Amino acid sequence: MRPEILFTLFTPVTGLEGIGPRLAKLVEKVAGPRIVDLLWLLPTNLIDRTPSPSLSAAIPGGVATVTITVDEHRKAHSKRQPYRIICHDNTGILTLVFFHAREDYLQKLLPTGQTRLVSGKLEQYGDDLQMVHPDHVVPVDQADELPHMEPIYPLTEGLTPKVMRKAVAGALKRLPELPEWQDTAYHQQRGWPTWGDAVLSAHTPDSRLELERRALPRERLAFDELLANQLALALVRASQKRAKGRPVKGDGVLTHKVEQSLPFKLTPSQNMAIAEIVADMAQDERMLRLLQGDVGSGKTAVALMAMLAAVECGRQAVLLAPTELLSRQHHKTLSKMLEPAGINVTLLTGRDKGKARAAKLEALASGESQIAVGTHALIQEDVVLHDLALVVIDEQHRFGVHQRLVLTDKGKGVHVLVMTATPIPRTLQMTSFGDLDVSRLTEKPAGRKPIATRAMPLDRLDDVIQGVARATRQGDRVYWLCPLVEDSEVSDLAAAEERHKALQITFGDRVGMIHGRMKGPERDVVMEQFVAGEIDILVATTVIEVGVDVPEATIMVIEHAERFGLAQLHQLRGRVGRGERPSSCLLLYAQPLGETARSRINILRDSDDGFVIAEEDLRLRGAGELLGTRQSGFPQFRLADVIEQSDLLAAARDDAKLIMARDPELATERGKALRVLLYLFERDAAVRLLRSG
Ligand code: ADP
Ligand code: MG
Repeated sequence: MRPEILFTLFTPVTGLEGIGPRLAKLVEKVAGPRIVDLLWLLPTNLIDRTPSPSLSAAIPGGVATVTITVDEHRKAHSKRQPYRIICHDNTGILTLVFFHAREDYLQKLLPTGQTRLVSGKLEQYGDDLQMVHPDHVVPVDQADELPHMEPIYPLTEGLTPKVMRKAVAGALKRLPELPEWQDTAYHQQRGWPTWGDAVLSAHTPDSRLELERRALPRERLAFDELLANQLALALVRASQKRAKGRPVKGDGVLTHKVEQSLPFKLTPSQNMAIAEIVADMAQDERMLRLLQGDVGSGKTAVALMAMLAAVECGRQAVLLAPTELLSRQHHKTLSKMLEPAGINVTLLTGRDKGKARAAKLEALASGESQIAVGTHALIQEDVVLHDLALVVIDEQHRFGVHQRLVLTDKGKGVHVLVMTATPIPRTLQMTSFGDLDVSRLTEKPAGRKPIATRAMPLDRLDDVIQGVARATRQGDRVYWLCPLVEDSEVSDLAAAEERHKALQITFGDRVGMIHGRMKGPERDVVMEQFVAGEIDILVATTVIEVGVDVPEATIMVIEHAERFGLAQLHQLRGRVGRGERPSSCLLLYAQPLGETARSRINILRDSDDGFVIAEEDLRLRGAGELLGTRQSGFPQFRLADVIEQSDLLAAARDDAKLIMARDPELATERGKALRVLLYLFERDAAVRLLRSG
């Protein structure tokens, strides 16, 4: 249960004075539906409305606040002319200008002979001073109403700054006094205000410096948010450790046999990763390990060995892949590698229906089938496993934490291995997993040749086609990636279809096409043709983005490379360069090329190291956008910037560790305050994991 002290903060904004249902909708659009959401929406800017002593002291070109006396209203003679109000003070004359004015309204607002405080942008117009549509007009005796430092909030159509300020002011009036959850010594050392003061100051900045991330009030709130995140993760991890794993200790016979029959020798980092994983699984704690390896680094073979360890002790392993295409490919490669050991791999995807599906489910439930590969279909409720020991998740960023939990619930003490080609920077890793164990594949398998990467403007398409024609005559196989059009699968498709047609003129039936709208079996047919070399060129939308492995493919053409992210381009390029023949990647771009796109292409030309590229990507794009993290299940922060404030993140992680060591049940005075913190940042689920929750 949420502590009572927080109740008001989690009530709807409609409870605020002056915010009816209509305005509430607009506020919700900008901030969120509850009062607490308004607290987290910090001002993005500040307007200084400190009154000038006189008109002559005010500086044209900026915002000025002056006290003036109204002399005369000059009506507009035609619709196009503005309504003018001439005013003065002891030092000069000011004309207030209104377009489409309502006279009665203006007469009331600025009656002739009266004195008013007006604030707005002051402009020099010839010899005259003008203010077009002042932002504020207040009677002198109500001067208090005019904020000297006006905080600027994000707005939406129909929502005025005034209403927004009022809503926030209302929210600030309801701030409860919360117990201090920060470590006393650390809190003092940083010189941070209390939570309540921090929220208040963050919303009432006195200078632009206070809008900066490192302003103390903002910094404190950011730290609170990060601490809630790290503490929640630590609690999840502690409860996972309590739910004991079951040690997986194989005799190594199968593993050895399969390794001997592989068509290649495992790389040192593959061996190292396998050793780390096998050691983890032999513990009675559950494994949660991330296997990071650049495209083509050979993660599948590592997963295979881990799965074999489970099979060796008579238990089961499943491999979860994000797409049908990848599931099939994994199934094929694993089956081939496991043949010498006499192990069957079951493939389960959304395409399995009726009797065939029932038979597969039966094999999994009875334990007859020891290894399964598949898509989300594996997560469905009626999929029962006899004795699941290990779950491997490929390309993790497409799965949420929830799906991971559903799958591990299909067994007892299930170990989890998450594989990704996306080199998640450490900071992001920490926010979604906390201190997760990581194995890295640092080198590519022996014999890999570097991929020659070139960039070319799109208008040299004819040259490219001729080049491709020469290459295919020599037996090269080509991926031809078509432009990615934002938010529009339809036009993606149209572009790919058009290119397909155009290439057919030169290449006839040696060119095939594959896209996301095709039915699975249709796609398989084309893919198999490409693998078998019946077609030389495969036109594709980004469905081939992850994981596809056709070692014979040596050329990757990417149209409109400027529309792709850096990490994505790197992934795409990694589809080639997997075999004996030298490979190349052609980045075709539309001119003029923007600054960022140019940097991206340069980085890609200069580096083939996924980690270097990811760091650069992060630098170019910022955290929120990285690798499409917005859609990828990484937590979003409203107050903290995990990249810019990675030092705060590290401090929060250390603090969470210390808390877990000293007060794992959050039972002390500080512990209780920390529970409030968790609820405040809506990490309720983590609180429930406490035994004495
Ligand atoms: P990824 O890490 O991108 O998933 P894969 O597991 O698909 O990479 O492996 C890419 C290719 O490299 C496959 O064809 C695989 O058979 C091959 N491979 C894996 N390990 C080695 C190795 N140690 N030596 C040579 N080739 C390897
Ligand atoms: Mg892979």
